[in-house]
Amino acid sequence: MRFTYVTLFESLISSYFEDSILKRAIQNNLLSINFYNPRDFTKNKHGKVDDYQAGGGAGLLLFPQPLFDVLDTIKKENPDAYFIFPTPAGKPFVQIDAKRLAKKEHLVFVCGRYEGIDERVIETYGDEVFSIGDYVLTGGELASLVMSDAISRNIQNVLGNEASLSVESFENELLEAPSFSKPPIYEDKLVPSEFLKGNHAKITSLKNKMSESKTKYFRPDLFSRFNARH
Ligand code: SAM
Repeated sequence: MRFTYVTLFESLISSYFEDSILKRAIQNNLLSINFYNPRDFTKNKHGKVDDYQAGGGAGLLLFPQPLFDVLDTIKKENPDAYFIFPTPAGKPFVQIDAKRLAKKEHLVFVCGRYEGIDERVIETYGDEVFSIGDYVLTGGELASLVMSDAISRNIQNVLGNEASLSVESFENELLEAPSFSKPPIYEDKLVPSEFLKGNHAKITSLKNKMSESKTKYFRPDLFSRFNARH
């Protein structure tokens, strides 16, 4: 998998790949990353990338020329590239998107800044337009990283233990059951006794019940989808 980021602030993104699982994925050639800065594609002498909004309105927008030029260049060099625009005005990014996109060869994340990106760029290039939640961030870098991280874990061999993927939250429309480690008693707080008896069928059954209760409590929207399917 290749991730390309179109961003004014490369270092906000690159540092995330300098540790842990994603660093290892790069070292093992499962993942590669590269960057384009729209400022390098400007045709005005001050390297300006933002301008006032047509029709008025508070704040500045990334205007079309540098973005069209950078995206045209990427497309020409990488005909297989798939373009993703993070924006609060997109459809919610969810786990099935992470799994689906993990099968692509090359994803390009186009990071907005200021009040966002001129819509003509999104209309021309956006293969998909995603929001990572109902709040507004200062830029698309964090949103792109959130999606990249979630996608990366679903690329084969990126995680040490792939079995963990199948019991995680959002599989089967449920949140994961509470988890416990050692010791069995910590400052008077006990691990549920069934977890310590080694009967795996009973543990699985208890975990399923806990998973359903947790989902019902924290995510009634997910739980009603789960109920409808079972
Ligand atoms: N004016 C825009 C609106 O109200 O929809 C918000 C622009 S935001 C300040 C600047 C950039 O941050 C966006 O272009 C997008 O790239 C990114 N961004 C902010 N919130 C986001 C979210 N919830 N999901 C995905 N991207 C987001």
